[in-house]
Amino acid sequence: METKIYNAEQAGVFEKAAEIIKNGGLVAFPTETVYGLGANALDKTAVKKIYIAKGRPSDNPLIVHISSASELKDIAEDINDKAKKLIDAFWPGPLTIIFKKKDIIPDAVSGGLSTVAVRFPKNRTARLFIRACGVPIAAPSANTSGKPSPTSAAHVAEDLSGKIDMIIDGGSAAYGLESTIVDVSSEKAVLLRPGSVTEKMLKEVLGEIGIDRTILSKPEGDFKPLAPGMKYKHYSPLCSIRIIKGERKKALEKMRSLYEEAKTAGKKAGIIAFSEDADYFDGCKADILTAGSEKDPETIASRLFAVLRLCDEKYLDTAFIKALPETGLGLSIMNRLKKAAGYDITEV
Ligand code: AMP
Ligand code: MG
Repeated sequence: METKIYNAEQAGVFEKAAEIIKNGGLVAFPTETVYGLGANALDKTAVKKIYIAKGRPSDNPLIVHISSASELKDIAEDINDKAKKLIDAFWPGPLTIIFKKKDIIPDAVSGGLSTVAVRFPKNRTARLFIRACGVPIAAPSANTSGKPSPTSAAHVAEDLSGKIDMIIDGGSAAYGLESTIVDVSSEKAVLLRPGSVTEKMLKEVLGEIGIDRTILSKPEGDFKPLAPGMKYKHYSPLCSIRIIKGERKKALEKMRSLYEEAKTAGKKAGIIAFSEDADYFDGCKADILTAGSEKDPETIASRLFAVLRLCDEKYLDTAFIKALPETGLGLSIMNRLKKAAGYDITEV
């Protein structure tokens, strides 16, 4: 199959995309979090194609995207007070909410669960696309399963060219981390995946919120995460990522010595550095990837997946990165990094 790439500003692009969706095809589109791979959420045959194109396990459910909050009642039950508060505060935006599902949502979308994940994105292109389709759009991230999520049309093409019908190019994703996921389908609201809407922002609106334990520590044994996508290794380049955690100077010294060791062993090694630390690695400049300033976690978040992909473009065998404090957006960034590293964390 030939994958057509259209610029979001091109005339007629949304009509073309809607035609593909109506015929059961797949369209990748930009959102403010990452690029999504969309199909008609009401058409189980179309939805199954998403799993095939991504190589995604069928027990990992998809997020259903809508283009106005009023469409929620068609697909979800029990829109309770907690949900209403979240919707008022964060929709449209980078927050996905889990509801009990209506029967109209096929099991192929919910991975067999009785719940459905719903998001109303803010990105203008995403909203125009969904509105043109006239149906809710099921969309996970538009990457090969397990790889870092795509934050540009080029990332989508790298993974899915030849496997999907169309990519709408809307430039780089503003936030760069997948949406925050909150489950309000039972008594207590629970944070299932941290994102750009932080725990603190959620607490301000809800008063209290539980945190799924897979966010704080490595899932062990047969523990089944509540958000099935939050498995042990994920978002991961071929290059092995290693996190170094500790006081700044000690952590930088350790990164440098591990880097030298790897090079001596004949490996192609790299350092992912925050701008404050870049000088420390002067001697090995050619292998430094810059991830932005620690004072500006928003920029780190927006670049993270592109930097992880760059490790593979440079054919690095291994790359070292310093841990960030796990507060605010740092919790969301570290959550992705730990999975990218398969929890390879060296404490100094
Ligand atoms: P992705 O967009 O690729 O990040 O995938 C969607 C994420 O939403 C995955 O982590 C899923 O496990 C999660 N998700 C989707 N539907 C549900 C649901 N009903 N309950 C819990 N998590 C969900
Ligand atoms: Mg994903």
